[in-house]
Amino acid sequence: MKDLHNREIKSLRISITPQCNLNCFYCHKEGHNIDNNKLMTPKEIGEIVKYSLKYGINKIKISGGEPLLRSDLPEIIRNIKNLKNNQIKDISLTTNGILLEKYAQKLKDAGLDRVNVSLDTLDPELYKKITGGNVELVKRGIEKAVEVGLKPIKINFVVMSNTVGGLNDIMDYCRKMGVILQIIEFMPVDEKLKKYHYDINKIEEEISKKSDKTMVRKFMQNRKKYLVDGLEIEFVRPMDNTEFCSHCTRIRLTYDGLLKPCLLRDDNLVDVLTPLRNGEDINKCFIKCIDRRELYFKE
Ligand code: SAM
Repeated sequence: MKDLHNREIKSLRISITPQCNLNCFYCHKEGHNIDNNKLMTPKEIGEIVKYSLKYGINKIKISGGEPLLRSDLPEIIRNIKNLKNNQIKDISLTTNGILLEKYAQKLKDAGLDRVNVSLDTLDPELYKKITGGNVELVKRGIEKAVEVGLKPIKINFVVMSNTVGGLNDIMDYCRKMGVILQIIEFMPVDEKLKKYHYDINKIEEEISKKSDKTMVRKFMQNRKKYLVDGLEIEFVRPMDNTEFCSHCTRIRLTYDGLLKPCLLRDDNLVDVLTPLRNGEDINKCFIKCIDRRELYFKE
């Protein structure tokens, strides 16, 4: 199905918990006092995904909070994988990697295709300062993901004024590990974080000069990809980006069962979990969500 701006709907990003085992200073936390009754069960998640197939969804991204904190994650993945008439081409996970070493094999066995691992710096002290965690655990998680074949593996690197200095190290590391580097623009969630914003256009210009090949991800917000000495680099720039909006094919589902038409808005969500629990037809929720999709940034 297309929305009112002629955009196909292809991808569903599901947050399965608001809880996290890190405490990144820049994160727009979804709320930590969670009511377990509000969490979608693996069966409910499978059911919602089943309906989404009708509207063209063929890619699922599982996220959070930290998704690996849910011990039923393999069941969630299996429920999605085993749906009838399954057109899902890709089930991926975004994780901070802290628990990945332990769970990578189980996730692969459950049917997970690939992972994105967030890593803003390789410097143990700076990592601790940004997240409160231990970067060695993340590196071990990435190694394990490579070993079990959860690929292509992508590293999510958020560029901020305090992480940009580590860009070359991260590029070398990704090249060595055979993983893709995803360079993400920092979105300041409040006024006092604005000082950390760094314009990634400058980085993109440099990278494009060095690049051997440039590609565009047509169904993923027209994101540009570059190949530099064998390393694939992708840019994610949602801020003030009309291209990002006009090529967006993604809707989202919050951990408490609300469909979210746009990454950048929280005022137009559609409750799908309550109608599902009441035994109602939830097609109308998808239609309402898709109808509410607007262009956040316009020409
Ligand atoms: N816990 C998981 C993780 O760390 O990947 C999934 C949730 S986390 C919110 C998803 C991604 O959003 C991470 O790569 C994180 O770095 C990024 N992120 C969080 N806050 C951000 C912000 N203000 N600007 C840009 N990216 C952000």
